[in-house]
Amino acid sequence: MTNILLVDDRPENLLALEAILEPLEQNLLYAHSGEEALRQLLQHDVAIILLDVQMPVLDGFETAMLIKQRERTKHIPIIFVTAISKDDEHVFRGYSAGAVDYVFKPFSPEVLRSKVAVFIELHEKTEQLRRQAEQLKEQELAELRRESEERYRFLAEAQPDQIWTAMPNGELDYVNQRALDYFDSAFSELVASGWTDVTHPEDLVRTVQLWQEALDTGNSYENELRLRRAADESYRWHLTRAVPMRDRRGEIVKWFGSNTDIEDRKSAEEAQRFLVDAGATLGGSLDYRTTLAALAKMAVPRIADWARVDIVEEGRLRTLAVEHVDQRKVELALELSRRYPEDPEAAQGPPLVLRTGESELISEISEERLSELAVDDLHLGLVRELGFQSYMGVPLVARGRTLGVISFVVAESGRRYGPADLALAEELARRASTAIENAQLYREAEERAQAARVLETVADGVFLVDSDGIVRLWNSAAEAITRLARGEVVGRPAEQVLPGWQDLAARVAVVGTPGPASATTFPLDLEGDERWLSISGVGFDEGTVYAFRDLTEERALEQIRQDLVSTVSHELRTPLAAIYGSALTLARNDLELEEAMHSKLLEVIVEESARLADIVNDLLLASQLDAGRLEPHVEPCDPHAIAAAVLDAARTHLPEGTRVSLDSADEGVPRVAADEGQLRQVLTNLIDNAVKYSPAGGDVYVRVAAAGEYVRFAVADEGLGIPAGEQNRIFEKFYRLDPDMTGGIGGTGLGLYISRELVRRVHGRIWVEPNRGRGSIFNVEIPAASEPPKGQKHRTRAKASA
Ligand code: ADP
Repeated sequence: MTNILLVDDRPENLLALEAILEPLEQNLLYAHSGEEALRQLLQHDVAIILLDVQMPVLDGFETAMLIKQRERTKHIPIIFVTAISKDDEHVFRGYSAGAVDYVFKPFSPEVLRSKVAVFIELHEKTEQLRRQAEQLKEQELAELRRESEERYRFLAEAQPDQIWTAMPNGELDYVNQRALDYFDSAFSELVASGWTDVTHPEDLVRTVQLWQEALDTGNSYENELRLRRAADESYRWHLTRAVPMRDRRGEIVKWFGSNTDIEDRKSAEEAQRFLVDAGATLGGSLDYRTTLAALAKMAVPRIADWARVDIVEEGRLRTLAVEHVDQRKVELALELSRRYPEDPEAAQGPPLVLRTGESELISEISEERLSELAVDDLHLGLVRELGFQSYMGVPLVARGRTLGVISFVVAESGRRYGPADLALAEELARRASTAIENAQLYREAEERAQAARVLETVADGVFLVDSDGIVRLWNSAAEAITRLARGEVVGRPAEQVLPGWQDLAARVAVVGTPGPASATTFPLDLEGDERWLSISGVGFDEGTVYAFRDLTEERALEQIRQDLVSTVSHELRTPLAAIYGSALTLARNDLELEEAMHSKLLEVIVEESARLADIVNDLLLASQLDAGRLEPHVEPCDPHAIAAAVLDAARTHLPEGTRVSLDSADEGVPRVAADEGQLRQVLTNLIDNAVKYSPAGGDVYVRVAAAGEYVRFAVADEGLGIPAGEQNRIFEKFYRLDPDMTGGIGGTGLGLYISRELVRRVHGRIWVEPNRGRGSIFNVEIPAASEPPKGQKHRTRAKASA
């Protein structure tokens, strides 16, 4: 039915219009004012308006104008109905206000009815047309929608991801084939369960919560969850996203969702994280057992349900560490490896990995396979209890040698190892091996550094000559003993740096292993200084290590001991022989000795005994000096008086043709700071020698003179003299000139040694120089005593000379 709006301020007019229009059987709406008419138009669709012109407040024209101003009502035909405004001006106003007709009262009901009927028909036609057009549009739209849906689905089917759509309430209304294949279920089943059957139980609560939240708020949905793959019953990580599609009014009409398999990405990330963690653990210890045990601990449960590390010990695999997700099963696993040690020849498992040095992957261990491998029922039972579903074994290779095997096993978690897992396990083993290798290298380096430090501190010279004869090592002691710096020696051929090396190397005993080696002693000539070295060698792969020590001092001591024995025995034997001979002669009663002979023999005994006593005294004195037991008692002494007294004593037993004299009476000579007795001994030795080594006689004189801070005693003779090269050596202990040079004159070689030591102790010096013409001059310089007051000096001097 069509609405006809009748507008008149008078109810009787409305009634009249109603009566006229009733037969049209349309719906009549009434308005008693312009305002009410406008209100009615807001509420209803109206086909035609019959509008009274004269009305209070809003008249017909004004009402018509307002109707025409509104978009929704401007097309509604308006027929003005009026009794008074018949003039043209009004009619014109009516038309210009948008009227389609102007009907004057009194009017013919038929005419009005038919006019209205025409407009109603027109309206209905227009409506019909509009509806048809709308229907057409609807159909086209539906067609378009269908097409776009098809296109969308086509796209969805071509996607590598699982694609789905859901209704605003969240119920699935489409799932692509890929998803159906993945879950191996029909669309209806999936709709019925709404993912819950295929989502990992641990992810379910979170997933439901997040999805409900999205449905409630209309915000897009995103979640990571594990979905079960029908093919192998494994759960794989997926990233699920859904966005709502809204209509023009903003209402959600559909959810578009996708599930992307991120298992590989996730496990790659996890693997990376695992390796990073492993790196930290592996670097944590230098003990490879600790390292490997830590590794097994890390692997469970991240990459295995149980892990075992076996290492090679004495040629066999021994279990070093076992870890199991289920702590109670660790003992079971240990029991297994204790009871059933791996058969080294086994065709699978750790022995195979050890033999080949290559990893092994068994993705699926079937029940039959297990029974095949089991040694007996107990074995099978243990293995079943532990659960073996998937296995991989990787070798631990350090420096090209397989140290052991790490085994990873999947038991209850239901995972299956694949190439990616194997790659991870291999990488892990590689890192573990590197850690072990590093630890070993570190230990070796540390040991080497320690050895080097030890070598630097030992007193023995140590050097290494490689197989090419190049010196590779030269320790500090070697430097100190030979005075050859490391820089001059290392890297150069031994032959070039060590004089006579080739000869020596041939003589040095080289043994194969460290231990007692017989050492060879040889002299090394170092720029005029001869050092005696004892050297031994130990050979090894890279060359020979030589150790040597400086025996120069020991050798000198040894020489001294030998000299002592020969000198003393010789020197003692001569007077002893004389005493013995004289005594024997005196004791004979078959011989009638003259008185003179008798006293001569007695004199020999006395003299030779005195000589023996002298020798023994010298020996004692020398040994006291060596032991540092002879402390001088230093005091100011008169040099002149001492020299004179010694000369007086010498004169008592001068040989024929020898004269001694004191060549100085210099009053200005200061006193000396000396031990008087010892100084006397020194001068006595020098004067005795001067007389003794002047076999042809001659003048021996002693000169006492001031020499700066010192007082010099010079003892000059005209005797045999001393060759320039021997002038130092004669002061050494037991040193004597060649007997050919001294014409067999006897002595112990101790006199000058004792003299030098005594002079040194009072900070003096002694040396020899050739005398002009022939003979020698022995000089002794003793520090002058600091001058005391004059009077005292005279008194002391007077006392000394008394
Ligand atoms: P000894 O005289 O008992 O052999 P010394 O130590 O006194 O021992 O002297 C060492 C050596 O020095 C002597 O053996 C001798 O060869 C030499 N000598 C010492 N004094 C003289 C000298 N005045 N003239 C020549 N040679 C001397």
